[in-house]
Amino acid sequence: MDKITRCITHDGAVMAAAIDSTETVFTAQRIHNTSPVATAALGRLLTGTSVMGAMLKNPEATINLQVAGNGELGIVTAVANSRGHVKGYVGNPDCTTTYYENGHINVGKAVGRGVLNVMRDEGAGEPYIGKVPLISGEIAEDIAGYYATSEQIPTVCALGVLIDKSGMVLASGGVLLQMLPGAFESDIDRIEENLKDMPSVTRMLAEGMTPLQMAERYLRGYEVDVLDEFEVGYYCNCSKAKLENIIAGMPPAELRALADENGEIKAHCHFCNKEYTFDEADIENMISAKN
Ligand SMILES: [Zn+2]
Repeated sequence: MDKITRCITHDGAVMAAAIDSTETVFTAQRIHNTSPVATAALGRLLTGTSVMGAMLKNPEATINLQVAGNGELGIVTAVANSRGHVKGYVGNPDCTTTYYENGHINVGKAVGRGVLNVMRDEGAGEPYIGKVPLISGEIAEDIAGYYATSEQIPTVCALGVLIDKSGMVLASGGVLLQMLPGAFESDIDRIEENLKDMPSVTRMLAEGMTPLQMAERYLRGYEVDVLDEFEVGYYCNCSKAKLENIIAGMPPAELRALADENGEIKAHCHFCNKEYTFDEADIENMISAKN
């Protein structure tokens, strides 16, 4: 099982959440049968969204991130709850062109130019909606940019997915670092100093570092208190009833038109690829429930 560790510096200046998301990204790769560049992009977004979810205060809250670029990958989507459980999908999972640059998969090129949409639903009231231009399409930088622009929180975000030549996920993880209201200019300087010789997340994962060790590496020079540690994973909460709720919103004529030659509607969950069948009786029940 994957794990998130959240910690705070003893002086209350900086908060960090770090994740080992290897199984989550491995699962996503298997569900969506993603090409290496699609695995890297979706994996990074799932990892970042999971950590962002874990930062939500309200237990009922969810967060939805959409990387909407004009590149070959199409739109990449991820949704997480406040326990960091996450699901997602990518518009073009077989994006065949693998862009390599200096031995690294060039996710930014496959994503293209566009925007990062963030929808945070606190479980009550209107959801918060933020939209920022993509900085590089490399996802970690875009998430940090979102926090800086939209929420005015100085943030460092690093994400990494390590994939072997056959496209298999070897390791995945990330770190999200945020300056708290009690932070001084000197704290920003110290973090910037730490970033100068910071190994990449994939390198730290390859060395077998735990989420706590990665967070501590970012917070070098601080005394670090662990806030909590919990298990996370790829999780889809779809059900026939939930999909029925969505479909039943359509006008009766459209509903009937959707049915195939057997009189059935097949609905497919984008997040876990499960397929649900609504037969003639189900469809007529939905229609009569409207009257
Ligand atoms: Zn599902």
